[in-house]
This record gives sequence, C-alpha cells and structure tokens, in this order.
Amino acid sequence: VIEFPPGTIVRDRTTGEVLFDLDEVGVEVVMARGGNGGRGNRAFVSATHQAPREWEKGEPAEEFEVDLELKLMADVGLLGLPNAGKSTFLSRVSAAHPRIADYPFTTLAPQLGIVELDMERRLVVADIPGIIEGAHEGAGLGHDFLRHIERTRALIHLVDPFDRSAEETAHDFEVIRNELRSYSPELARRPILTALNKADLFTPEERAERQAAFEAATDTKVRFISGVTGQGVPELLEAIWQIAPPPAAEGE
Ligand code: GDP
Ligand code: MG
Repeated sequence: VIEFPPGTIVRDRTTGEVLFDLDEVGVEVVMARGGNGGRGNRAFVSATHQAPREWEKGEPAEEFEVDLELKLMADVGLLGLPNAGKSTFLSRVSAAHPRIADYPFTTLAPQLGIVELDMERRLVVADIPGIIEGAHEGAGLGHDFLRHIERTRALIHLVDPFDRSAEETAHDFEVIRNELRSYSPELARRPILTALNKADLFTPEERAERQAAFEAATDTKVRFISGVTGQGVPELLEAIWQIAPPPAAEGE
C-alpha cells in the first residue's frame, strides 16, 4: 500500500493513458494485482506424506511502469505575464508569502494561498509562475505552469498597464489568452476575470481612460485593482466567488 497526496494522477508510462486520477482524500485503488498464490506445503499433506516439501509457485503479479504527476488543487488560478503582480496580489489576499521581486520568474514553483472572504467562505488561490509567449511550446516554464491551472474552477488574469501604452497592454493580454487557447481550449473557456493591476500608479481619469481603451481593444470587461493598496480587491474576490463557488458551498 502506497500513499499519495490528493491530486496525484497515475499514467501508464508506455501509453500515457490516465489509469487513476486520485483527486479525493482517502480514495483507494488497486493499481496492480498480485498473482494468484500457488499451493503451499500443507496442500500436499496426506496420510502417507506428513511432511511434504512440495509447493507450487504463485502466478506472476501484474507489473508495469507508471508516471506520477501531482496537480495542484486550487479553486482559482492567477494568470499573467511576469511582473503583472501575481505574487503581490496573493500575499495581499492570503496568508501565503510568495517571493516578490521585479524580475521575471521569481516564482519558480506554484504557490497556494488561502483567501478568506469571511468566516464561512474561503478560496484556495494558486499563484503560477508567469507565462511568456510560447509557453505552450515549452518556452519559459511552459507546461510546467500551465498544467497546474487545469484543475482550477476559475481564473484571474492580471494585466500590468503601468509604463505600457493602451496597445501594448491589450497585446500583453492577448499573449496570455493565446497561450491558454493553444494549450487547452477547454481551459480557455473557464470562467475568468480580468483585472488591470497597479491602480495606485494611475489617476482616476487615467484609469477610466485605460479601462475604456482596454475594453474596446480586447472586447473584454475589465476592472482596476491594486495588489499593493488593496483597492478593488474585495470586489474582485466577491466576483470570483460568484462565478465559481466551491462545490461544497452550493448545497449548504
Ligand atoms: P509577478 O511576477 O506577477 O508575481 O509580480 P510581482 O508580484 O512579483 O510584482 C512585480 C513588481 O510589481 C514588484 O516590484 C511589485 O512590487 C510591483 N507591484 C505588484 N503589484 C503592484 C501594485 O498593485 N501596485 C504597484 N505600484 N506595484 C505593484
Ligand atoms: Mg511572482
């Protein structure tokens, strides 16, 4: 009996086929059957043969190689180019303290944070290392990061408009959208909220202007937030809860 953390996926190494998806706590599966046992000495006992030495070999057990992959189990995934402010956002909203720095790829492993909206409602948010263009083809951290968000129910896409023109900002957004689509069309259809980050670096007039320009260019509704000051953050979390409440919360 081998214990695995929940979220482990077991694949046949030769075919790549998913054999088991251990996505719940406490699930038990038979991965490989032992062979039928052979008869032991006792089976050969008879009146004239009291101490048999005979025995039968057991049948061989099933034997094959598997690959184990651990996927994160988070409710919400954070998406965005390096420096969009994902780590800052997560440290603002949760007790997690991811590494924060202003150069790409400081977050080399996904970080999880538990966000408490109030006493009853909590969300697990995963901060994923930033994508760069071509991630789906293996550039940057590529698939390593993308596959971690496969299990989230909703995504938050952070876009950093600071020091970027409206066109560049729209382009940055599309880079991530395209990566998502190329990686998994199914993932690209998941509920997603887009936020322009670093609101604190803009005047209210600039914000209104940038927001309108972004929405016109991308045909996507967007809100401004600031991971540093927390502006717009409670509203964003409330909105993400509305589009993707955890399954347990629905029946309560
Ligand atoms: P990540 O690569 O997406 O995880 O981005 P980080 O959270 O590491 O942030 C990159 C840089 O942007 C850091 O210097 C942060 O301090 C800065 N930053 C992040 N969020 C904000 C924000 O809301 N306002 C401002 N002014 N700076 C921010
Ligand atoms: Mg980071």
